[in-house]
Amino acid sequence: MLDKVVIANRGEIALRIQRACKEMGIKTVAVYSKADRDLMHVRLADESVCIGPPPSHDSYLNIPAIISAAEVTDAQAIHPGYGFLAENADFAEAVEKSGFVFVGPRAESIRLMGNKVSAIEAMKAAGVPTVPGSDGAVTEDNAVKIARRIGYPVIIKAASGGGGRGMRVVHTESALLNSLFVTRSEAKAAFGDDTVYIEKFLQHPRHIEVQVLGDGEGAAIHLGDRDCSLQRRHQKVVEEAPAPHIPDQLRQEVAAACVRACQQMRYRGAGTFEFLYENNHFYFIEMNTRVQVEHPVTELVTGVDIIQEQLRIASGQGLSWAQEDIKIRGHALECRINAEDPRSFLPCPGTIKHFHAPGGPGIRMDSHVYSGYTVPPHYDSLIGKLIAWAPDRAACLARMRRALDELVVDGIRTNAALHRDVILRDSEFTRGAVDIHHLEKKLRG
Ligand code: ADP
Repeated sequence: MLDKVVIANRGEIALRIQRACKEMGIKTVAVYSKADRDLMHVRLADESVCIGPPPSHDSYLNIPAIISAAEVTDAQAIHPGYGFLAENADFAEAVEKSGFVFVGPRAESIRLMGNKVSAIEAMKAAGVPTVPGSDGAVTEDNAVKIARRIGYPVIIKAASGGGGRGMRVVHTESALLNSLFVTRSEAKAAFGDDTVYIEKFLQHPRHIEVQVLGDGEGAAIHLGDRDCSLQRRHQKVVEEAPAPHIPDQLRQEVAAACVRACQQMRYRGAGTFEFLYENNHFYFIEMNTRVQVEHPVTELVTGVDIIQEQLRIASGQGLSWAQEDIKIRGHALECRINAEDPRSFLPCPGTIKHFHAPGGPGIRMDSHVYSGYTVPPHYDSLIGKLIAWAPDRAACLARMRRALDELVVDGIRTNAALHRDVILRDSEFTRGAVDIHHLEKKLRG
């Protein structure tokens, strides 16, 4: 087993990784920016190293500083968490070249999945269902023909795109070539790669994803699915497991295809296959080669500690679960609590005067904040995740409502009331199976 791990992240996920390490007897090194001296995991770490000034670019994205921190503390491995460098293949490569273990997939898997064209190709080869679209890159010469074959509306997407950027929906042939030109120029400027491809634009999909674990040697399992359709501006707001109202056979088929894809690429670590789901069909859109924000809902319905599995796999011990041992039990929901203005949704950093985390049966709060903590303005606005488990979805919704009533975050503005008064009391959501536009429509009134 690993002896000492550098946590190359901040906030709730850094604390979550530290908790897993402590339970496994692994020592932790916190690396932090000058704005983050007061983070809970920095206080609790065995060692801590300041890696630079507040801007992420100079600290949490500073590859040499993070690798030096591992060197000076004599750590063996680096856990990237999510965001920041988690899906940066060059970072994974640099970590391993410097003689450390990267807690995540091989750089080649990150690269393969980081390019959407090569990712889709790999998925097709493994029998994972994809969105009807161009076979690879599209140019001015073949775009019209391809879009006609697919049928409008279509979506033009940058092969190297991410974070919801580098996409454009096209409704008519007359707009196609101009949109292609614009998307290409934007992609070139934003990602340094003007490769684009075309997909059928699905009008009312749900977002459903499958959690997987691979040992890096060709063995892989899945931990079932999650529904993350409640989104605002492509940002997930509420997630749940399992995804409601999916025919069991379809669920099994898509999960089996994801496992096959992991076996074929000898995938190592935790990963997520993201799908759009419409009219009883799954359509692959991308794979995330890291642990995700919403991993706790899967942990609560399977009993698997995903971070501990990542650490076990990274230490070469393989998977501790066989597929037949994975049973989905009950239902779990997660509400992302953000420090943001409830009307404008703009981040609202500041000092939390008083914080009280809900508790009681079936409640888990993953949060790094505490009374007196100041949320710095430099990073994303997530201050915690409130997660509920119950034997069925209705009981889980009731438990989450009860927990949201208990939550106290005084001194800064948050989206807690949006969860409590709007989402958890929305009859369409509580019936289950809303599409990815539902929340925005609801917010527009
Ligand atoms: P990114 O890597 O930027 O997150 P994705 O490929 O995951 O890009 O797509 C982000 C979002 O864009 C999806 O969650 C969905 O809302 C929308 N989207 C992407 N492809 C399609 C499609 N073919 N039809 C409809 N919506 C899509």
